[in-house]
Amino acid sequence: MSSGVPESSSRVAVSVDWHAQGVQHGHLIAPHSRNESPWGSLLIPVSVFRNGDGPTVLLTGGNHGDEYEGPVTLLKLIRGLELEQMRGTVIVIPALNYPAVEAGTRLSPVDGKNMNRIFPGRADGTLTEVIADYLQRFLLPLCDVVLDMHSGGRVMSFTPTTVIHELADAGRMARTRAAAAAFAAPYCLVLRELDSVGMLDSAVEGMGRLFISTELGGAGATTVETLRIAGNGVHDLLVHLGVLQGDPVGTGSTRFVHAPEEAYVMAERGGLFEIVVEPGTEVEAGAVLGRIHDLERPTDDPLDCRARIGGVVMHRHWSGHVSRGDCVSVIARDWGR
Ligand code: CA
Repeated sequence: MSSGVPESSSRVAVSVDWHAQGVQHGHLIAPHSRNESPWGSLLIPVSVFRNGDGPTVLLTGGNHGDEYEGPVTLLKLIRGLELEQMRGTVIVIPALNYPAVEAGTRLSPVDGKNMNRIFPGRADGTLTEVIADYLQRFLLPLCDVVLDMHSGGRVMSFTPTTVIHELADAGRMARTRAAAAAFAAPYCLVLRELDSVGMLDSAVEGMGRLFISTELGGAGATTVETLRIAGNGVHDLLVHLGVLQGDPVGTGSTRFVHAPEEAYVMAERGGLFEIVVEPGTEVEAGAVLGRIHDLERPTDDPLDCRARIGGVVMHRHWSGHVSRGDCVSVIARDWGR
């Protein structure tokens, strides 16, 4: 499907043919003129596996550069995916915000932009905006399903969860829910309201396509457990979508939860952060989840960060330092409909 705009109107060139049969490994190529490389380009690796007719699935990691389950899992997938075992098309971009992944930072070090807050991007914008614009106008319209793999980054850590949005379209909601169940992370966080302006999520869902995200761990690292969930999840999602032959390999099931507005616990001042409750724990309303200590007032009691509702702790602030306004915890309740 084409948006009707010639691809030449994007400054991004592509060294693969999105429609060709077989396996291709190439790049999205964006002009990146800078002091060290006046005629330089940014090369973002992309792999395309196409075997006949079937759904087109886009798998992205590294939308934020300090979240590692996505890039590691997708690099493993690129080396392991066998064309004979699949039908349809799998497009893999392990490091969507490549400069950010290289630097290990959430935002691009080139232009300071957050890839997940700038969709639909700008054809005449900064490097991150130009890449988003290419996806918005040329790549996303080719895709039936998009999985964008996130984790908590350096200062957050999640109990492993998929993330989907509550959708008005009941049929698409059911398909999205089924896809998240197939991924089989321990939790699926269903977001009812979201500051979603500029997110890849909104770009894909605005086109009526199926979108799933994840928050698989965090703390600026992977764990054996989060990588297992990520690897099995991608495999089993592709099996569920009919793209990959074979049986599911995951053994877990998913608990669907949601986080109302009062689920988010913010730090009311900065200081040293003491964790009290780890993610995955059930708590009552009023439970102390963490404490903030003030180095300058050693005799003062620490400030308690309390749950405003009961439920399961989805996330914790990871860093030992906390700033006023940081989200230190999120509580989720069972989601039923
Ligand atoms: Ca993220």
